[in-house]
Amino acid sequence: MRVNARVLIDGPSELVFDYAIPVGLDVKPGCRVRVPLRKKSSIGTVLSVVSADQFEFAVRELEALIDPEPLITPVLLKTADWIANYYGCSIESVIRSVLPESVRTEEHSARTRRIAILAKAVDPVTMERLEKRAPRQHAILTLLGAATDQQLPVADLGEGNSASLKSLEKAGWIRLEIEEIRRDPDADGVEEILESKPLDLNEEQQRALDEVLSAVADPEHAKPLLLLGVTGSGKTEVYLQAARRALDLGKTVLVLVPEISLTPQTVRRFKARFAAMQQEVAVLHSNLSQGERFDEWHRIRKGIARIVIGARSAVFAPLPDLGLILVDEEHENSYKQDVVPRYHGRDVAVLRAAFEPCAVVLGSATPSLESWHNCESGKYQLVRLNQRADGQSMPLVRVVDMRLGSGKHKGAPAILSDKLRTALEQRLEKGEQSILFLNRRGFARSLQCHACGHVCQCPHCAVALTYHRTDERLICHVCGYQSIVPRKCPECRDPGIAMQGYGTQRVEEVLSKVLPQAKFARIDADTMRRKNALRDTLNAFKAHKTDVLIGTQMIAKGLHFPNVTLVGILNADLGLHVPDFRAGERTFQLLTQVAGRAGRGDLAGEVIVQTFTPHSPSIQYARRHDFDGYSEQEMEFRSQFSFPPYAHCAVLTARSTHERRAEFTLQTLHHRLAENTPAGIVLGEVLPSPLVRSHGQFRFQITLRSMRARPLTRHVQAVLAKTTLPDDVTVVFDMDALNF
Ligand code: ADP
Ligand code: ZN
Repeated sequence: MRVNARVLIDGPSELVFDYAIPVGLDVKPGCRVRVPLRKKSSIGTVLSVVSADQFEFAVRELEALIDPEPLITPVLLKTADWIANYYGCSIESVIRSVLPESVRTEEHSARTRRIAILAKAVDPVTMERLEKRAPRQHAILTLLGAATDQQLPVADLGEGNSASLKSLEKAGWIRLEIEEIRRDPDADGVEEILESKPLDLNEEQQRALDEVLSAVADPEHAKPLLLLGVTGSGKTEVYLQAARRALDLGKTVLVLVPEISLTPQTVRRFKARFAAMQQEVAVLHSNLSQGERFDEWHRIRKGIARIVIGARSAVFAPLPDLGLILVDEEHENSYKQDVVPRYHGRDVAVLRAAFEPCAVVLGSATPSLESWHNCESGKYQLVRLNQRADGQSMPLVRVVDMRLGSGKHKGAPAILSDKLRTALEQRLEKGEQSILFLNRRGFARSLQCHACGHVCQCPHCAVALTYHRTDERLICHVCGYQSIVPRKCPECRDPGIAMQGYGTQRVEEVLSKVLPQAKFARIDADTMRRKNALRDTLNAFKAHKTDVLIGTQMIAKGLHFPNVTLVGILNADLGLHVPDFRAGERTFQLLTQVAGRAGRGDLAGEVIVQTFTPHSPSIQYARRHDFDGYSEQEMEFRSQFSFPPYAHCAVLTARSTHERRAEFTLQTLHHRLAENTPAGIVLGEVLPSPLVRSHGQFRFQITLRSMRARPLTRHVQAVLAKTTLPDDVTVVFDMDALNF
């Protein structure tokens, strides 16, 4: 029986065609091939090998096999297939993520050089003869004889030597070979990294390490591990030692971090621990050049780089013999890709681990409720680190009530409370440092009363209502409930109900007046535009050239500053009242992470949280570092309203520069989705997105929920396939969406 190769043609148009495989050619899925396309020859990737239809004569033969062995391993091909089905995107779009462009196309190749190697010792008689008759050959042999390993790049032997080299090769004195040279992304400008020695683990860490190692030893029977360790509990040390043991067993290791540029310290700790095997470490950042990416990819594929650190897309790193995947800060939203394919890096890591099979560890101080739920249902295994490894106690967290009605403040709500100001002054006097953290102002605006802290919420969904200026209404973005904008607080009748918000710049202005003696540094999207700005600002702060660091979410991640003893959170509420059922979870995570920045050295830490909703569970449980308490009440809320992790939640968005057309398209889709909806799927209404208008485009969305993911994806895909969309409307489906 004849077989065809189903080939994804390289290029922007995502074409897939079948080609007959010539007799005798061993074409496997994942190999690249050369195929005829119209009048030209193109490159493509074999997606699968399918048996040919008997009566199919029109199929052309493929021209050549480029890779004798598949570029994409069978496991990665299987993973790609799963992603395409689960997230409802084309396999082509996934393959594009799995194989970097520089590897897929033939435009890039390894950088090589020719080297000359002395093949055998040359006797003195010959040398003497050559000296007289062929001085160039004599010179080459002399140079090679003196060189390390008796070999040199041909370029280093001087020009005009090719004839002499050929003669020497022919006479058997030397060998000429092609050597690949690596474009090393770290080759220049990086400080020397000193090797760090493993620490003696405490009991908890040892138990955690043992669990990880038994999973590495028997991945087939191991569950994914959720390592829940409070900030500073020494999770990273457990990762490092587990990685070392896996490498010692001859396996390779994949480390995923939320974002390379925001986690420089984690990356540095890995580099330091494995400094002695620097050539075996690959760091995949987004600003690698195409050539560097090509080299790193092939170093990984060949098993030369055996430990890979990277963000989301590194989950597709082609490591052979994968023994362990570590997902650091597994709760981070940046693991979800916000363009097609919209996969979640953590979930794909778990899946890949099952396919390989290999061990997988998800680590966090504030796990996502999805992962937590998977522990409760027995899919994952929970491992805990409850103590700080450095012997420090958890920082003291104080909550300051900023409501006007609390009687402590008069007039407009202040940016800085007396408590926080005094605490800052004390730190300055003692020569200690502080971090001030400002919740990023979201685009979605909710109404909050400055007197009593009341926030207008949907009565059906318990999420904050969003203010829409155009029609002066409050809208629930989950169910579509609408209400008028109240003039007075519905709770306390105070007219002070309003929207609020201020930026880091304003904070700096106010603080410079209150604390003229202090030196401030600001980290936000505005000040970080310059290249290396983040690194420079953090280095200056570390060297204590500045006293107070003011920043947004960017400073919440794994930073470690021993001299920081005070962390102030200026507006703990702001992230709380966005129209998203994860608002509370995010606030809890953020506060816990930020609080973990205080007291990392020998000095005790203090955290001051300013808020208009002091009794909010997210704030109270974060204050007590109580993940269990928090998750218990949050899970109850999720279960009651059928939100994830108790259901899958997806968003279908339509956007266009024509408002009416975007809305109308989505209404058409809604209508079709409502016909023959499979059981268990809850279809929301067509609503303007919280961010109705951005980049000149209008957005509308439908939220869909379902107990099971696949039927939901299939239903939406089927409707989309049957619908012809207008050219100027873009429709996007986001399964397990994180943004609403
Ligand atoms: P996490 O990643 O859980 O936030 P880290 O790995 O950053 O915690 O550890 C916090 C601090 O404790 C670091 O300074 C680390 O060097 C130190 N540490 C970790 N494990 C130990 C240990 N077993 N003994 C002493 N100090 C440790
Ligand atoms: Zn609602």
